[in-house]
Amino acid sequence: MATDPEHALDALSHELIHVLFADLFPDSVPPRWAEEGLALLNDPADKQARHRHDLRIALHTGNAIPLSRLFDSANDATVSQRAIYYGQSLSLADYLTQIDEPERFVQFVQACVESGHERALNTVYGIAGVADLERRWRRHALASLSRDGAGLVTTVRLAR
Ligand SMILES: [Zn+2]
Repeated sequence: MATDPEHALDALSHELIHVLFADLFPDSVPPRWAEEGLALLNDPADKQARHRHDLRIALHTGNAIPLSRLFDSANDATVSQRAIYYGQSLSLADYLTQIDEPERFVQFVQACVESGHERALNTVYGIAGVADLERRWRRHALASLSRDGAGLVTTVRLAR
């Protein structure tokens, strides 16, 4: 794949996010979901569609990862959960970069490093905390996934 110029360029904007984060956070480790979510958001549409598909299944089957666990960088996602982890991280980054300017997301990551998710959500986005974000994000995810394609509305209805 690395020798295929088209795919090499596809991967570039994703990898640039990792480079940018390494540059922005030289002495600290930003939340992994946030870095990966923003990187995935810069992947080509077909790749994103696969992650959204994984998330749709997870929401449908009740296997979405609680945000408190997703945000805990020490709690490494198991191999079986990795697809869900990527799908959720992408969807969360998507949501947070939609409710405010994408630059705010970087401020939010900075605030997470300094004072944790709970406070960062409040100060940067005016969201009461992780539980409040979980409610808002799920509503957003279900609505946007149902817009993604034909036949999915049924899936989302079942998940409620
Ligand atoms: Zn990555």
